[in-house]
Amino acid sequence: MQKRRAHKRYLPINNKKKYITHVCILFLFSVFILFSAIGRVRLDSNNKLSVWFFDIGQGDASFIETPDNRQILIDGGPDGTILDKLSSVMWPWDNTIDVVIITHMDADHVNGLVSVFDKYKIDTVIYSGALTSGVMGQFIEQKIINEKSRVINAKFGYVYNVSDVGIHILWPQKNISGKFIKDKNNSSIVFGLQYQNTEVLFTGDIEKETEKYILPYIKDVDVLKVAHHGSKTSSINDFLKRAKPEYSIISVGENNRYNHPNYGVLDRLKDIGSYIYRTDTDSDIMMIIDSYGYKIKSNPLPF
Ligand SMILES: [Zn+2]
Repeated sequence: MQKRRAHKRYLPINNKKKYITHVCILFLFSVFILFSAIGRVRLDSNNKLSVWFFDIGQGDASFIETPDNRQILIDGGPDGTILDKLSSVMWPWDNTIDVVIITHMDADHVNGLVSVFDKYKIDTVIYSGALTSGVMGQFIEQKIINEKSRVINAKFGYVYNVSDVGIHILWPQKNISGKFIKDKNNSSIVFGLQYQNTEVLFTGDIEKETEKYILPYIKDVDVLKVAHHGSKTSSINDFLKRAKPEYSIISVGENNRYNHPNYGVLDRLKDIGSYIYRTDTDSDIMMIIDSYGYKIKSNPLPF
């Protein structure tokens, strides 16, 4: 049986040219749309600052990423959990953290930093430089020396900028580097994080004595990282009324043995009309800041 020969169908020359022209126009148009979309996404993400308050158990660890991908870690929590948290918000190939701020050398803030120093290159460390009796504090100091990180000893009035983010140090009052400090909580670094028109106040584990001392320098803030996990030894009325945070973040472990946060502190925060987020009940808390203001949400999906 004779097979039917398949006849190739040729377009007339003019139609072929038209066809190619249409394909080219469609291609260029698609490329234009794609690049516009990418450009818009980049433009949007370019002015957004991310702030994470990690659910790290009974301890403290916050993380900030600037729009140009520079990173600031504030404390490292009580154990290696911090590595899982960082892995969830950093690209796998990113092994550098620009700035680590160590509020003070208590275990619930620095134990996790050991694994952070092992895994990441830390460019700059901001801490008080005070000598402590704790073994972990000394161990961390040795890590800083071994890493050859740039060290800044925080004191009142110092301003450090990471891209467009300002870190305004309010405490300690003076340089206590090299001095032996017994009261670690009250030597915590206190600083305001300023980006666009939004300010977040970080208070470490300071207690009422320090709150009274820095009261004149406290101004209205948007978000307060509540001192000392909501302990009754902190968050005096005058301090809260002056800071007047719209939102308050409490980093605290579930069913912790210290009964943090204290009911009196929660009541005082409610009395000033502050919305409260807690890492024990809300898990990880994420804040996005841009030129329009800020948004906070708890337990967000990973990127
Ligand atoms: Zn603490």
